[in-house]
Amino acid sequence: MESSQTTLGSTYGRSPVPMRPVGDPGPQVWSVERSAELYQIRGWGEPYFTLNSAGNVEVRPDPAQDRGIDLYSLALDLKARGLDLPVLLRFSDILRDRIRGLNEAFAKALVEYSYAGAYRGVYPVKVNQQRHIVEEVVEFGAPWGYGLEAGSKPELLIALAHGRESGALIICNGYKDTKYIETALLAQRFDKQVFVVLERIEELDLVFRASEKLGILPMLGVRAKLTAKGVGPWADSAGDRAKFGLSASEIVDVVDRLTARGMLSCLQLLHFHIGSQVSSIIPIKNAMREASNIFVELAKMGANMRFLDVGGGLAVDYDGSNTDFHASKNYGIQEYAYDVVSAIHEACTKGSVAEPTIVTEAGRAICAHQSVLIFEVVGSNDLHFGDPSPPDPNAHAILKGLYDTYKNVVPKNVQEAYHDASQSKEEAQSLFKFGYLSLRDRSRAECLYWGCCEKILGLVRRMRYVPEELQSLEKVLASIYYCNFSIFRSAPDSWAIDQLFPIMPIHRLQQEPTVRATLADITCDSDGTVDHFIDREDVKQVLELHPLQQDEPYLLGLFLNGAYQEILGDLHNLFGDTNAVHVRLGEQGYHITHVVKGDSVEEVLHHVQYDPEEMIERVRQQAETALRAGQISLPQLRLLMRHYAESLGEYTYLSSDD
Ligand SMILES: *Cc1c(COP(=O)(O)O)cnc(C)c1O
Repeated sequence: MESSQTTLGSTYGRSPVPMRPVGDPGPQVWSVERSAELYQIRGWGEPYFTLNSAGNVEVRPDPAQDRGIDLYSLALDLKARGLDLPVLLRFSDILRDRIRGLNEAFAKALVEYSYAGAYRGVYPVKVNQQRHIVEEVVEFGAPWGYGLEAGSKPELLIALAHGRESGALIICNGYKDTKYIETALLAQRFDKQVFVVLERIEELDLVFRASEKLGILPMLGVRAKLTAKGVGPWADSAGDRAKFGLSASEIVDVVDRLTARGMLSCLQLLHFHIGSQVSSIIPIKNAMREASNIFVELAKMGANMRFLDVGGGLAVDYDGSNTDFHASKNYGIQEYAYDVVSAIHEACTKGSVAEPTIVTEAGRAICAHQSVLIFEVVGSNDLHFGDPSPPDPNAHAILKGLYDTYKNVVPKNVQEAYHDASQSKEEAQSLFKFGYLSLRDRSRAECLYWGCCEKILGLVRRMRYVPEELQSLEKVLASIYYCNFSIFRSAPDSWAIDQLFPIMPIHRLQQEPTVRATLADITCDSDGTVDHFIDREDVKQVLELHPLQQDEPYLLGLFLNGAYQEILGDLHNLFGDTNAVHVRLGEQGYHITHVVKGDSVEEVLHHVQYDPEEMIERVRQQAETALRAGQISLPQLRLLMRHYAESLGEYTYLSSDD
């Protein structure tokens, strides 16, 4: 279902919260400013996300315009229109700005180094293949001849359906079969430059055969297996054992075999990719140096080298720390562009080789910022023990001992008190096991133990140095906030590889968040939790949140999730695609340009080969049997069948009218 160009609400001209002068200790009462610091929003959010004076997150999709969209109001607007949460908001203007930023950075670097070649970026389709996204990439990239990269045959089919811009490149990577290669060669006859990049030496024979059969000379590239590696979880995309790429001897072999057929002029592009989220600029510089030299050598060997494709890897600062930590990056897009251009410029000058067109395949850095998932907290499990009452005079000794421990917790003895309490709890458990303690007394003992832990934690939080064994208390005593979303669907990398995404409340930011919590999704999987969050230093295990209020929804945003998460997301527990909404800044206010309705229960059931009609029929037959046997009444049968049929057509997530 789609609706186009509905104008909703208006934008807000509220000014962003000003920075505090250095050295100012800040007000003692809570403030929006303190929320900004706590959630690091300046680090990861600028220039797109900020806080407004109403205490809400504000999106500034086009940094060139002094206008923002209040995220909380937008979410309520959508809810009012029947677009239930969780909802994925895609801000087209952010995507446009990312593409513009990359292209302008390279344009500036070309001028800086008086570079004779051009820059032609491509967007790797695998990062987010959603049609509306790819369409927008092509639209926004048109002024720069921005192209597409395919990593598989289906992605090539997508790329060919777009990319009308003449001059834009289509780069074909990934495993290739004959059909993939033949399709690419035939598409060269369109108004496109389609490159087949050899990722494995075996592909060369397929290319020769296809070329002969079709009478079309291929535009060929080779992917080099560099010794320079990236860093972090994707570092193994390069190096000797990398899955893809040709070693030096294989590249020489390609040159020789092309030469033998008089086809060396087909080889025009050198490609490498050292992995995703390369958080430090050093490996990028090293890879550039190595690849530039391979490029120059290939040119000298007689190949018609016109393109150097430096792959992806441009990182995103998910935690806002601006460091080489894996969730961050220690360089900006401009520095990246300078380093790429200068390395190839230097090598070509030294080798007296013509400067090639530079191609980048940045994916994450283009697509991550444009989307935000908004979801609602639907309940919480707070561990709160408060001040326990003293045990009866004739209570079990173990309870009296625990109570004494509780009373005597002071800053000086937190560690000792923790040991005493833990030992008593274990004793209570073993007394119970052997029948010396009642279930009620065991429960009292546990409450006293948790009371001790809570009191200890209160003191530990004020300590400068926290003993290691007490560091886990924060997490153990954290509240659990249950959220109406599926981590497996909406942020699978958080589950699979512990990737960090900024998560924070999108409103109430003028209030102090007094609760520390982990998040649990509504899948029944105990892995469906978020218990690692961005922090100024390292990672934190709990997130500061506000106490839930009876009559007001509490909405959280998961930010920077526009790259990879949508397609890696799965149907765990049959939670389907969320609603997605494309938002653009309009003349006054914002427009909803596309609404992509999330999956209904029926759709996800189809996916696992169930036929909803038949399911209804089977349940009806069982209900009829139960009715005949007098086990249910007619109104009960009617209610069951209505619930069953209605649920099939509904959103897979919890609906707010329950
Ligand atoms: C995944 C991939 C990219 C995109 O990488 P990012 O880290 O998202 O920029 C580019 N090129 C190739 C060959 C890839 O496999």
